Amino acid sequence: MVEAFEYNQSPARVIFGFGTLKRLPDEVSRLSLKAPLLLSTPQQIQQAQKLQEDVSDRLKFAGLFTEATMHTPTNVTDKAIVYAKEVGADSVVSIGGGSTIGLGKAISIRTGLPHICIPTTYAGSEMTPILGETADGVKKTRSDPKILPGTVIYDVDLTMTLPVGLSSTSGVNAIAHSVEALYAQNGNPIISLLAIEGIRALASSLPLIKSDPTSQSARSSALYGAWLCGYCLGSVGMALHHKLCHTLGGSFNLPHAETHTIVLPHALSYNAPAIPDQMKKLAEALPESDGDAVKGLNVLLAKLGVERSLKKFGMKEEDVDKGTEIAMRNQYWNPRVVEKEKIREVIWRAYEGEDAR
Ligand code: NAD
Repeated sequence: MVEAFEYNQSPARVIFGFGTLKRLPDEVSRLSLKAPLLLSTPQQIQQAQKLQEDVSDRLKFAGLFTEATMHTPTNVTDKAIVYAKEVGADSVVSIGGGSTIGLGKAISIRTGLPHICIPTTYAGSEMTPILGETADGVKKTRSDPKILPGTVIYDVDLTMTLPVGLSSTSGVNAIAHSVEALYAQNGNPIISLLAIEGIRALASSLPLIKSDPTSQSARSSALYGAWLCGYCLGSVGMALHHKLCHTLGGSFNLPHAETHTIVLPHALSYNAPAIPDQMKKLAEALPESDGDAVKGLNVLLAKLGVERSLKKFGMKEEDVDKGTEIAMRNQYWNPRVVEKEKIREVIWRAYEGEDAR
């Protein structure tokens, strides 16, 4: 029987393919815009400049702001808004990963400027109405439908330069969105279909990217999967895994995608007894799982050769107890009751880098 559900369609318009960047001038005109401000990180200036050149005969940017930073610090947003006003920008175009997209969202929600987004990682922020901003070292997250970018242009060509290590961890970060969407409190059959399709696409393509980063078919399959997983993240509520990553990443300054990659099998293993049907579906989507989704994730991470322990990223042994305390502070919905001692064990295993059981 199909249980009763509510399904909200995200309004974003999506353009997907190879070479789709060339469609940016048309998108800008379609929205009756003339002078977008282009945003990037300092590491992606070249990609941003190449975009400017590639479309220069049809689109003049009002300016280029290249100071996007992890965790969207509000002082960077303030500076970007002053610059946007100075150069008379009527919109923003973000080209980059979650950090750059976060800046685009922050400018857009504060100023009302339309936001066109060109993602270059698999993190999925472009599909969500969520914005996390940091002020005075404290990260606050809010959700508002107005935060969603109006148009998202996925150009597979841009992901060809995503380093293999970041491709793997960013891809598993995306898988984590879909895993939690499968057992979300407000989940629904449509999102579950998209989640499984997204996981399948990423789990099959990430090992291929690892062995051949120039594979166009693997790269396009991964970006397609990342889009679906990002859509799941933006559509339903997340649970234990995302809560743990937010807590550990924020409290101990751990890298975003790597933390998701390390925590996921342990968080899933914790929730497994409460979600037998979802575990079965998930196992079917993960190659070589032998019917066990946790094993499937362990196999995938082994193939990708990713780091498995949080201590390698600077987490200290005493942080295991601290992290447990913080994770227990705010209660939130999870398919299995969150018990302190067992959560400590989950964090400990991620800290030590054990295989999930
Ligand atoms: P990122 O945007 O910080 O990028 C990591 C590094 O890789 C940066 O130096 C970037 O310039 C570089 N890079 C990105 N794409 C590249 C490419 N194609 N080629 C070469 N270099 C490239 O990393 P991320 O994992 O995409 O995003 C992490 C941030 O996004 C975190 O702050 C996280 O909280 C946020 N996030 C937010 C949401 C949301 O819904 N609000 C969702 C996911 C992530």
